[in-house]
Amino acid sequence: MLTLAAAALRAPVFMVSSGRKNTYMARSEDMMTDPTAPITQDVLTLPRNAAAEGSGKVNLVGLTREALREVLIAAGTPEKQAKMRVGQVWQWIYQKGVRDFAEMTNLAKDYRARLDAAFEIRLPEIVTKQVSDDGTRKYLVRIAGGHEVEIVYIPETDRGTLCVSSQVGCTLTCSFCHTGTQKLVRNLTAGEIVGQIMLARDDLDDWTRAGEGMGERPRLVSNIVLMGMGEPLYNFDAVRDAMKIAMDGEGISLSRRRITLSTSGVVPEIFRAGEEIGCMLAISFHATTDETRDKLVPINKRWNIEALLGALKAYPKLSNSERITFEYVMLDGVNDTDDDARRLVRLIGGIPAKINLIPFNEWPGAPYKRSSPERIKAFANIIYKAGYASPIRTPRGEDIMAACGQLKSATERARKSRAEIAAEAGLGEVRIGGYVTGAGGA
Ligand code: SAH
Ligand code: SF4
Repeated sequence: MLTLAAAALRAPVFMVSSGRKNTYMARSEDMMTDPTAPITQDVLTLPRNAAAEGSGKVNLVGLTREALREVLIAAGTPEKQAKMRVGQVWQWIYQKGVRDFAEMTNLAKDYRARLDAAFEIRLPEIVTKQVSDDGTRKYLVRIAGGHEVEIVYIPETDRGTLCVSSQVGCTLTCSFCHTGTQKLVRNLTAGEIVGQIMLARDDLDDWTRAGEGMGERPRLVSNIVLMGMGEPLYNFDAVRDAMKIAMDGEGISLSRRRITLSTSGVVPEIFRAGEEIGCMLAISFHATTDETRDKLVPINKRWNIEALLGALKAYPKLSNSERITFEYVMLDGVNDTDDDARRLVRLIGGIPAKINLIPFNEWPGAPYKRSSPERIKAFANIIYKAGYASPIRTPRGEDIMAACGQLKSATERARKSRAEIAAEAGLGEVRIGGYVTGAGGA
C-alpha cells in the first residue's frame, strides 16, 4: 500500500464524464463525495461477461492476445489475417490509447465498421480525481456494478509509480489493514486491472503520440505496484492476464522488473506467480513469530512463516539483482522490538532481500498505533547493519487516510467496531490512541 501526500491534496477536482475527453470541475470540500455514487453492498454477484453489462458489445480491453484472436475470427476476420489484425488492434489500444475503431487508420474502412459493430474499448470510469501539490494523483474509479476502487499515481524524480487494485475489498482480514475490514465484493477482471493503468495514462497524456516513436518521451507511468485493494494472488488469472498485457512489448511495454506484486503470503500461488507472471515480488511479512503473524496476517494460520519462507526460497526469479521486498509495518509494541529486528534478519537469511519498513498508517478504529520514529530508526539500523537495505517509507497522507484502498473503505468503516476488529485479531486488550479497551467492549 502506498501512501499519499494527503496534506498536500488541496486541489480536489471532480471529473464529470468518462472516456478520453473528460471535463473537470473544481469542487468544494463538502462536495468531494459523488452524491450519485451507489453504496457498495457487502456481497454482490455481478455479471462478469462484458457483453452482459455494457453496450452488448464485447470489450476488447483485458483480452489476452489469444482471446483477442478468437473474437476477431468469430467476428469474421479471416484466419490467415488474424495474427496481423491482432497486432494492429493491439497497438492502437495499448500503444496509442485509441478508443474509437474509426481512428485505426491502417485498417480498411469496412473492417473498422465491422469491429465497431461487434466490439468496444471500454475502461472503468473515473469518479473523482485529486491532485496534490507534489504531483501525486489519486483517482476514485467506478467499475461495472457501481463498485469503486482507488488508483494512486506517485511521481518521483526517476520514475512514476502507479498503485493498482486487484479486488474490491479483500477476503483476508489483516487486523492492521483498513481494506481488511471490508467484505469482498468481487474480483476485478483483467480489463478492469489493465484499465486502471490505461486511465492513468489518459490522464497523464502518457500514450505514444502520432508520429512519435515508442519510448521517445520518458514514461510517466514507469512502474506498477499491485498494492492497492485486494490480494492479487486470490485473483490470479485476471492479475496475470492484465500484467501480461502491461508487459507486452507491442503495447504498454513495461519491463517485468518494473512491476511488483505484493502478497500477504498465498504460498501455493507464489511459485506460479514467478513462472507465469515473472514480476518482482513483495511480501507482507510484518511479524517474526507465528504467534504475532497469526494475529496480524491471519493467512499465516494456513501457511505459516516457515512455509512462506520455503516458497520464497523457491521463487523462480530470485537472485541478487532481483531481490524480494519484505514489507514490514511498524506497530507500536506489537512487532517493533530489537529482538524482532534480529529475528527478522535470521529468518530471511539466504534470501536476496530488501526490507521496506512502513510506519503504520492509522485509520479510525484501528487497534494499533504507529511505532515512534526513534523505534523505527533503531529497528532499521539493526537490519541495515546486517547487510540489508532497509528504507523507511515516508509517512504521508495521515490526515485523509490516503493509503491505497482507504478512501473506499472509509464508507464501510462503521460496519465493524474496534472491539470486533480486536476480537477477530485475537487481541485481548488493545491500546488505541492512548486509552485501553478490551476485546469484549469499547
Ligand atoms: N493484499 C496484498 C496487497 C495490498 S496491501 C498484501 O497484503 O500484500 C499492500 C501493503 O500495504 C501490504 O504490505 C499491507 O500489509 C500494507 N498495509 C495495509 N494496511 C496498512 C496500514 N494501515 N498501514 C501500513 N501498511 C498497511
Ligand atoms: Fe487484504 Fe493485503 Fe489488506 Fe491483508 S493487507 S487485508 S491481504 S489488502
